[in-house]
Amino acid sequence: MPITDSPCPQCGHPQATRTQGMSLIAECAHCGWMVATTNPAHPFHDRTPYTVRARPQGITRATAIARLSATLGTGVHAARAILDQDSPVAENVYAFEVIRLHKLLWPQGLSLQVTPEFPWELDDSL
Ligand SMILES: [Zn+2]
Repeated sequence: MPITDSPCPQCGHPQATRTQGMSLIAECAHCGWMVATTNPAHPFHDRTPYTVRARPQGITRATAIARLSATLGTGVHAARAILDQDSPVAENVYAFEVIRLHKLLWPQGLSLQVTPEFPWELDDSL
């Protein structure tokens, strides 16, 4: 638990901060003062537009096309074109949308290639 530089505004003791979901919580263990602010280090607040491509991982091309088609709701033809032309499956999407796509596609053997470089962790254990 990192200690912030600024002391508790109420009693002057050092504050500790922790993140809880989308909140950043600063609190003082001495007097119990506490404040919650928006956690800037959360992907929900990342306003970078990302481009996402899907790559088959350990599955056949035919399987990848079928799964991509089903997941994206596109036809098989469109899914095949996406893979053949290395077209994005999503463009100008925010970080939380990238994470949502990852959770949909990764369990199906499709890994995401994200540009620009994605700073958030994509959980491969799903
Ligand atoms: Zn305090």
